[in-house]
Amino acid sequence: MVFWKREDRNRCPEPVEGPTPKPLPCPLCGGEARTRMDGISQSPYSKTEYWDCRCEQCGHGFREPFSMFNNNFAYNERTAIELWNRNVESERKVISSPLEECPQCHCLPKVMKNNKSGEAFLRCPKCGHYSSGKDPIKTKSIWNTWCQRCLENRTKAEQQAEQLKRIIGGGKE
Ligand SMILES: [Zn+2]
Ligand SMILES: [Zn+2]
Repeated sequence: MVFWKREDRNRCPEPVEGPTPKPLPCPLCGGEARTRMDGISQSPYSKTEYWDCRCEQCGHGFREPFSMFNNNFAYNERTAIELWNRNVESERKVISSPLEECPQCHCLPKVMKNNKSGEAFLRCPKCGHYSSGKDPIKTKSIWNTWCQRCLENRTKAEQQAEQLKRIIGGGKE
């Protein structure tokens, strides 16, 4: 059995295929993205480099090296660019998708600003449900995911209620 293979696909030495890809522009500000090595962890037996690809203008894409909350590290320049480009593509999808209405109140959330941190977040003006992420794209993605999950749950609950009615109704006959 090959255990190391499933450990972390970014850590595995990747076969070099062609020239290093070019980083896509930042989805937030359109700035140029560059790779950087943010740190090295060294032991007598191994040396690990932590790379990221981030926007030179706004810093989007920065990954805290050694952070236990970040399990998606890149360990070389190429992987950092590939990771950045994958993220940019999924972030573009979030940007181009419409902002969902609050599933409880059927109104659009308002963009609010945290007075302390200055971070923007989304909040429903009626029920007060809010979502905040580390950047506007994440915030919108969290909000939309919550709305979609609520709608899915409601559909499921309605189906179950329908089923229950049928069972109870059937029992009465
Ligand atoms: Zn940027
Ligand atoms: Zn609401």
